[in-house]
Amino acid sequence: MALSQVVGRLLGVRRHEVTSGGSGLPRVPQPVSALVVGGGIAGMSAAVVLAERGVEVTVLEAAPTLGGRLGAWPQTLDDGSRQVNEHGFHAFFRQYYNWRNILRRIDPKLRFLRPVPSYPVLSAQWPTEEFGRLPPAPPANLLTLLARSPSVRLRDLRGMDRDAALPLLTYHPTRTYAEFDERTADDLLTSLRLPDRARAMLFEVFSHSFFNHEAQMSAAEMIAQFHFYLLGNPEGLAFDCPEDDYATTIWAPLTRHVERHGGRVLTGVVATGLHQEQAGWRVTATEGAYRAGHVVLALDPPALAALVAASPGLADAAPQLVAAMPAFGRPGPPYAVARYWCDGDVAAQRAVFSGVTRQSTLDSVTLYHRLEHGSRRWAEQTGGCVLELHAYACEPDVPATELAARMWAELTTLWPEVSRLRVRELHARVEAKAPAFAPGGHARRPGVRTDADRLYLAGDGIHTDFPSALMERASATGILAANHILRSAGAATEPLWSVRPRGLLARG
Ligand SMILES: Cc1cc2nc3c(=O)[nH]c(=O)nc-3n(C[C@H](O)[C@H](O)[C@H](O)COP(=O)(O)OP(=O)(O)OC[C@H]3O[C@@H](n4cnc5c(N)ncnc54)[C@H](O)[C@@H]3O)c2cc1C
Repeated sequence: MALSQVVGRLLGVRRHEVTSGGSGLPRVPQPVSALVVGGGIAGMSAAVVLAERGVEVTVLEAAPTLGGRLGAWPQTLDDGSRQVNEHGFHAFFRQYYNWRNILRRIDPKLRFLRPVPSYPVLSAQWPTEEFGRLPPAPPANLLTLLARSPSVRLRDLRGMDRDAALPLLTYHPTRTYAEFDERTADDLLTSLRLPDRARAMLFEVFSHSFFNHEAQMSAAEMIAQFHFYLLGNPEGLAFDCPEDDYATTIWAPLTRHVERHGGRVLTGVVATGLHQEQAGWRVTATEGAYRAGHVVLALDPPALAALVAASPGLADAAPQLVAAMPAFGRPGPPYAVARYWCDGDVAAQRAVFSGVTRQSTLDSVTLYHRLEHGSRRWAEQTGGCVLELHAYACEPDVPATELAARMWAELTTLWPEVSRLRVRELHARVEAKAPAFAPGGHARRPGVRTDADRLYLAGDGIHTDFPSALMERASATGILAANHILRSAGAATEPLWSVRPRGLLARG
C-alpha cells in the first residue's frame, strides 16, 4: 500500500460497503422470471447477478451486438482486413468496484485489463501536463497536483477564492445537491477565481468527460464527480483498459457466463411497448412478445423515454415514471467518435491516451495500435496506425464527417506529424445518448425503483445514493435492480461498494 493510501485510509478514504450480500438463500427458492431490456453495462450487470441466483432472466437488446455505448462490432475495411470497431475508448478506473466485480466473473484477476501508465493533457497554448503519475490517494494526490502543476503557482492559490473551493472538499449526498444543484458548473469554476491556464488544464478536461457543457451542467454534479474521481477514492486517477476489443474481452465471455447460468441473451430485439398484466409484465418487441414477473429497463435516456411514451398503460401503473420522462429523456449534447486507419505513425513518444483542452471540438486522442491486439496486428501488417478522436460535447446538427474533419485539423495543430499521415479509412459517428445533468435536475432524476410494482430502472443516468458515474453507475444500478428482485424472492443480494460516501471535510 502506498504511503498516500495509508494516510488516506486513516481519513476514511477506502472502499465502503453500501449493501452486504444479505442473509437470503444462495438461489431463489421458487421460480422467478425477469426481462432485462437493454444489453449495455447496466442490463448485463443485472442479468449476471439474476442468472447466478437462479432467476430465469432474458436480456432483450435492440442492436445486433451487445454493449450499448461500450459496444463493439465486426467491420471489414476496404483493404479486406477484418477489424472490430468500437463505440470508443473507455477508461476503466480502479474505483469502479461494482463494474470490476461483474468483470471478475469472466476473469477473476482482471488480467485482460492493462494499466495505462500516463494521462497527459494536451493544449495548443500551454505545455503538456501529466496527470497519470500522482500519488493515488487524497489528500496527497490533490496536494501533489497543486504543488507540481505549472498551471498553479503559490501566487495563484493566494488569489483563489478558498471559500468557493470548499464545496469541492465537502461533498455530501444531500447537502451538496440542496446547495449547488441550481447553479452551473461553469458558475462554480468561475467563482474559484483560478487562472485561465489552471482552469483549462485541471478542470475543463475533467468536466468535459461527463458529456455535458459546463454552462449546462449542475455544479452539484461536478462536485460529486470531483469527489468520485479524485478526492473520495484511494485509487486516484489511475485507470486500465482492455488489451483487446470489448466484444472479445467483455461481451462474448459475459454472454457465455449468463447463458451458463441458464439466462438468455437475445440481440436484434427492439422493445416497442411495456404492459402490466396480472402476473407481471409483457414486453412487446419487433420479434414477438415476452412475459416475466419483473422487468428491468436498462436503456439510454432517450430510448427509455421513447419506450415509456409508447406504453400508454404506464400512465396508470407508473405515473411518476411517466412524469419524469420528458426531462430525463432529453440527452446531453451530441458526442462524436472517429476512428482512423492510416499509413505511417505518430511520434514514438505520444501517449496511448491523451486528453485535450481548449480545442473547439477535439477532447481526446487514443492510439489504438498501441492499445488493442487487433489494431496492433493491423498496424504491424500495414506499417500504419489506428487513431481514435473523441469530442464529448459537440455543437448540435453537425454531421459526423464534418466533426471528424474538425477534430483531425485540431490534432494537426497539437501533433504536427499527423499532417503527414495518409488516411486510408475513417469511420465516424455522432450521437446523443448520454444523460444530461442539467442544473436543478437532481430532484427529478429517477431512481432504480419505480412507482410500479416489479418494474426497475438501470443505467448511467439513474440516481444512486452513493457517489458513482458513467460505467460504474451503469453497473451499480443494474446490480441494485437485480437486488430488489432477489430480496423480494428471499434470495441473497449482491454486495455493493462505494468510494468514501462524503467529502474529506464534510460535516455530519
Ligand atoms: C465515446 C464515449 C466514451 C466514453 N468513455 C467512458 C470512459 O472512459 N469511462 C467511463 O466510465 N464511461 C465512459 N463512457 C460512458 C459509458 O459508455 C456509459 O456510461 C455506459 O456504457 C452506459 O451504459 P448503460 O448500460 O447505462 O447504457 P447503454 O450502453 O446506452 O445501453 C443501453 C442499451 O439499450 C439498448 N436499447 C435501446 N433501445 C432499446 C429498445 N427499444 N429495446 C432493446 N434495447 C434497446 C441499446 O442498444 C443499448 O445497448 C463513454 C461513452 C462514450 C459514448
